[in-house]
Amino acid sequence: MPEGDTVFALAARLRRALDGATLRAGRLQVPAHAVENLAGRTVVGHRTHGKHLFTDFENGTTLHTHLRMSGSWTVVRAGRSIPQRVRPDVRVRLAVVDGPTAYGILLPVVDYGYTRDMNALIAHLGPDPLHPTFDAERGVANITAQGSRPIVATLLDQRVIAGPGNLWANELCFLRGLWPWTPSSDVDAQRLVALLERAMRHSATVPGAMQVTTGDTRRGRSHWVAGRAGKPCLRCGTSIRVVAETPGDPDKRRTWWCPTCQPEP
Ligand SMILES: [Zn+2]
Repeated sequence: MPEGDTVFALAARLRRALDGATLRAGRLQVPAHAVENLAGRTVVGHRTHGKHLFTDFENGTTLHTHLRMSGSWTVVRAGRSIPQRVRPDVRVRLAVVDGPTAYGILLPVVDYGYTRDMNALIAHLGPDPLHPTFDAERGVANITAQGSRPIVATLLDQRVIAGPGNLWANELCFLRGLWPWTPSSDVDAQRLVALLERAMRHSATVPGAMQVTTGDTRRGRSHWVAGRAGKPCLRCGTSIRVVAETPGDPDKRRTWWCPTCQPEP
C-alpha cells in the first residue's frame, strides 16, 4: 500500500516529466470534473503532504489526487500510449506538448480547483516528516497527546503525523523495540520521531531503498515483521505474530510483532 515515501518518490518522477511544461491535453475522467479541459495549462510544480499529491498549474489552480489502495501513475514517452486494456481505468491524463504523457490510473480521489481550496483539504493533517521544514516537535507533542491509545494506531493516524502507513507503523515499532499496544504517552516520542524521519527520508530518496526497512533487499528479508507472520524473527528467531485488527482502525489492517524483541511492558 502506498505510504508517504512512495508518494514522495512518485512526485519526483512526475516533476521530471511535467514541471515547466505546457499541456497539449489534460483530462480528468471523473464525473465531478469531466468537463474540465487543462489543455494550454503550464505545470509549475508537484508537492506532497503525507500520502496526498498536488499538481500545481500557473493559473492558481491545483490537481489533488490520492492513491489509497488502488491508484497508480504511469508516464509514457512522446508518441507512446498505455495498453488498450488499461484505458478504461484512466482517471487523469496530462499530455505535454512534444513530450511525455502522465496517466493517473484508478485514482479514487481526483479533485481540481483553486490552489487554496485544495490546500484546505489537508489542513487537518499532522506534519510531514519528508518536508524540509518538518516540525518534529509538533510530531512529538501530537504522539504524546494521544495518551493511552496504542502506539501502532497513533502512527497510522494522519492527523498525528502525515505519511506513515501500515508498513512503517509496524516496522517502526519493531525498530524501537515497542510492543505495538504500548500507550502512546509512555513512548519516547522524540527518538521515535527522529527514527521515523530518518527512515522514511532514506526510503523516499535512496535508489533501491524504497520501503526496505532491514537494509536487505532479498526476497522475504526486506521487512522485520510486516507480512512475516509465523516466520522467524530476523533478529532473534522467535516466530512473528500477527493480529487481524489494529484497535480503532477503520481499515482493519493487521499488526505484526516479535514477542521477544517487542515485549509487553
Ligand atoms: Zn525478535
